[in-house]
Amino acid sequence: MSSSTASLAPTDAGHTYVVPDAKGGFAIPTDLLIADKWTAGTSGKRIDVLNPSTGEVLTSVADATVADGLSAVDAAAAAAASWAATPPRARANVLQRCFQSMLEHADWLAQIISLENGKALPDARGEVLYAAEFFRWYAEEAVRINGDLAIAPAGGNRIVVQYQPIGIALLITPWNFPAAMATRKIAPALAAGCTCILKPAEETPLTALAVGEILRRAGVPAGVVNMVNTSDPGPLCSAILRDMRVRKLSFTGSTEVGKILLREASYNVINSSMELGGNAPFLVLDDADLDAAIEGAMIAKMRNAGEACTAANRFYVQEGIYPAFVEKLVEKMGALKLGAGTDTTTQCGAMINRAAIEKITSLVDDAVAKGAKVKLGGKVGEGAGFFYPPSVLADVPLNANLIREEIFGPVAAIVPFKDVEDAIRMANDTEYGLSAYVYTGDLKRGMQISERLEYGMVALNRGLVSDPAAPFGGVKQSGLGREGAHHGLLEFTEAKYIAVSW
Ligand code: NAD
Repeated sequence: MSSSTASLAPTDAGHTYVVPDAKGGFAIPTDLLIADKWTAGTSGKRIDVLNPSTGEVLTSVADATVADGLSAVDAAAAAAASWAATPPRARANVLQRCFQSMLEHADWLAQIISLENGKALPDARGEVLYAAEFFRWYAEEAVRINGDLAIAPAGGNRIVVQYQPIGIALLITPWNFPAAMATRKIAPALAAGCTCILKPAEETPLTALAVGEILRRAGVPAGVVNMVNTSDPGPLCSAILRDMRVRKLSFTGSTEVGKILLREASYNVINSSMELGGNAPFLVLDDADLDAAIEGAMIAKMRNAGEACTAANRFYVQEGIYPAFVEKLVEKMGALKLGAGTDTTTQCGAMINRAAIEKITSLVDDAVAKGAKVKLGGKVGEGAGFFYPPSVLADVPLNANLIREEIFGPVAAIVPFKDVEDAIRMANDTEYGLSAYVYTGDLKRGMQISERLEYGMVALNRGLVSDPAAPFGGVKQSGLGREGAHHGLLEFTEAKYIAVSW
């Protein structure tokens, strides 16, 4: 709560949180951001924010009611016309200042992410830089919302197409990338000329609130970005989606919640973008460069300690390279230091909560009971924080539950294969389709395999796909639409066609 550094807080802030021992930040307002004011909301209740590395309460944030959510819609509606009419260059300038300000606060923001999410500081810092890039990218895109002009085939008229802001957007984000998932939505919404309401995950509200204050200070006008945290997201989000003024839903989270929200969005036929769960396969062919494949596997599996929608969930490794791959992965994963996110020596941080540990434990136990061999880890340790050790399971049978479900933790499940056709079939045998990885020394073959993988994104001889300049998103039950690139901007626009004769 506010203390000696309270003077660093915005003047209207009520409750605030000061990050212990952190330099260069400010007291984070922990209320709701509505119409440029920090307000405690109408419930009188607060939500505890935990440190997953210790299990202790860090602070609390305001708990929004449905009425608070609708006040945020009022604020977004009041700001909508003037923000849509703000010249693209002026919108770009605001976004550029947001980018600069996030960079200036990078270490401090990383500290907040590590505190409330548990991830290791290098992962947190990487996230902040990635998150900031969305402001830079969309500052550049804001001035390139070009339309189309064509002569109608019959020759009678011109077809003029203009991309207009879609309208007020509800943005809902998960806890695993609390900064990047927020900026990946806020930046294109603002670039397109939309106002928005962000509903961050209840586990990690502080990062979003810190970003909210950074945006205010960077000159985002009142009501353009509003933020509401709640312990009961269903009713609040449904009420917002049933308000006729709201025209866009952009959601990142589990497929299960995505399906609920699609049903809610159908009530008013709200345009929806969905970034949902993944079950990424990681294929390693005999001709792959072993060291490169291991390096890529470590990034694909261990970035964020495995708590990433793009995380490699199933490794399919060809028989010739299989023993060496398993041995080296065990060596590399076993060398990682497990510890509190904010400890500067930590390489693998804590999981988000107790439920996550229980889910990983049950998936590992199930695989072992069905015949998987534990090569590393595989057992949760003692202690107050929510830790699971880096683990490697070899010879995982295809009927193990973790072949079908997201592990969302530091567990590598490895399956051998003989024939590449089998590997492709196994890789595609899932209802998910977010990202896939392929390692091979033959680029032509790699491209052919990539084209046959039923995924929105394929990393070929790389362990990372995320890039603000590339269209991020999934097929099948991993989602609808794309974030990043020019595609992400178009998600916040509506094509207006004008038939004109002149
Ligand atoms: P989650 O679905 O439980 O929660 C996501 C958000 O939805 C949170 O803000 C939560 O409060 C909110 N929510 C929950 N129930 C709701 C309801 N009934 N109505 C409205 N909102 C509701 O997911 P999570 O556990 O926070 O995140 C992990 C999941 O997110 C994983 O499945 C992961 O793969 C996915 N994810 C996907 C991407 C992507 O880009 N595809 C990125 C990150 C995470």
